[in-house]
Amino acid sequence: MHELGLLTGVVGAVAGAAGGREVAAVGLRVGARSGVVVEALHAAWPLAAAGGCCAGARLVVEELGAAVWCPACAAEREIDEYFALTCPVCGFPTADLRRGREFEVAWVDIRSTS
Ligand SMILES: [Zn+2]
Repeated sequence: MHELGLLTGVVGAVAGAAGGREVAAVGLRVGARSGVVVEALHAAWPLAAAGGCCAGARLVVEELGAAVWCPACAAEREIDEYFALTCPVCGFPTADLRRGREFEVAWVDIRSTS
């Protein structure tokens, strides 16, 4: 599973940021064109998080829309996940994807020890 590998990387990065503290939740930003299946992320998360600082932490995924730059309109246009790379307004073909490939850790909620 592709998503499990991605999450293993996320857990590693979060562990570095947490520095041994317990993590309450992790927020990810995932673009519509990133090739990542959000349901698969949620399914794989308990497995990826098990036994580390992220065990029991909540996974929050923020999905981002995709957008291309249309040179004919001279504007950024939101595209549907399944659209070909063309401007949805004028139909001009463009491969200039401006948003939608993101896969990144947006935030980490570290449990405060008191
Ligand atoms: Zn256009």
